[in-house]
Amino acid sequence: MNKEIVVGFDVDGTLIDEKNNPIYRNINLLLDFHSRGCCVIVASGGGQSYTESIVNKLGLSDIVECFTKTNLPYMPDIWFDDQDCSIGSVNIRI
Ligand SMILES: [Mg+2]
Repeated sequence: MNKEIVVGFDVDGTLIDEKNNPIYRNINLLLDFHSRGCCVIVASGGGQSYTESIVNKLGLSDIVECFTKTNLPYMPDIWFDDQDCSIGSVNIRI
């Protein structure tokens, strides 16, 4: 039985830079996980609607679920973030 792997990404400093420009190397990583059949989520400390607005701008709203970082419904298997954190089972600082 295969369990779907959940991969999560932070927003600020991870998917967009300090000038709100997309960080394509990380967005491409997100797209790669999605194309491999992973469930991809995005979450920010700025809240769910902020997360949704950025995900929308990046054109990712059809393939990711958006959450507030402090209120995730489950622990992602892998979490990518520009800060050290312990959100996922495995946390990768990028
Ligand atoms: Mg960040």
